[in-house]
Amino acid sequence: YKRQGQALQRVDGLRREVIANVSHELRTPLTNVRSYAETIREAGDDLSRETENDFLDVVISETDRMTHIVQDLLTLSRLDSGRSEMNMARFDFGAAIDSVLRSIELEARRHGHELTHDYHDLPMIMGDRGRIEQVMLNVLSNAVKYTPDGGHIRVTAGSEGETVWMEVADDGIGIPEEDRPRVFDRFYRVDKMRSRAAGGTGLGLSIVADTVRRRGGSIAVSARAGGGTCFTVRL
Ligand code: ADP
Repeated sequence: YKRQGQALQRVDGLRREVIANVSHELRTPLTNVRSYAETIREAGDDLSRETENDFLDVVISETDRMTHIVQDLLTLSRLDSGRSEMNMARFDFGAAIDSVLRSIELEARRHGHELTHDYHDLPMIMGDRGRIEQVMLNVLSNAVKYTPDGGHIRVTAGSEGETVWMEVADDGIGIPEEDRPRVFDRFYRVDKMRSRAAGGTGLGLSIVADTVRRRGGSIAVSARAGGGTCFTVRL
């Protein structure tokens, strides 16, 4: 009974923490939306067209931000309740990486990053391709976000026995050693300002970790020799 009680208490504590975090994360954009809308309303014709558009852009981007948070929360709650269905099928692991690379290519180029890859003869695997691509995309878009423009991002992959792995290494800002174990926690961000500016919610990696662990896989983070970060996903 005691142990059960402790487990319940822990779940309750976690829930309270998530609610506190969510409220906090939503409060800032909500306040911004309200005050910009109010300013536009009250200023009437005193605002130049240009300023008005700038204010409306803030309203739009803050709304997008809240949508992003809510979407991530829905994904998490689906994962938690075990309601996220798995569409299992055989697919080519390398082809999945190819398509993720294609979808991030433009964004990487926009930041002047050099995106390189090295993998071949990857096997067919059994899994739900959509979710696995989502995991890859998440890790890769973090590399794009947290590397100053003109950086280098390298994707490698391989297989060992029954395991396939993919590694994303960047020469970006890096993650201090003491923060590394915590980046998979919900809402954890090493640098709040930077994450916020990049449109982050601090939920991405916790969703990634839940997703791969649920499939018997793992994700690890390490420092890249010479600076930067390296994420390794194993399935
Ligand atoms: P966010 O939505 O803030 O990007 P994530 O859960 O995806 O949240 O990542 C958690 C935190 O880990 C980020 O806020 C960032 O501080 C750090 N992080 C993730 N990937 C990298 C990376 N490639 N380089 C440096 N820091 C990173």
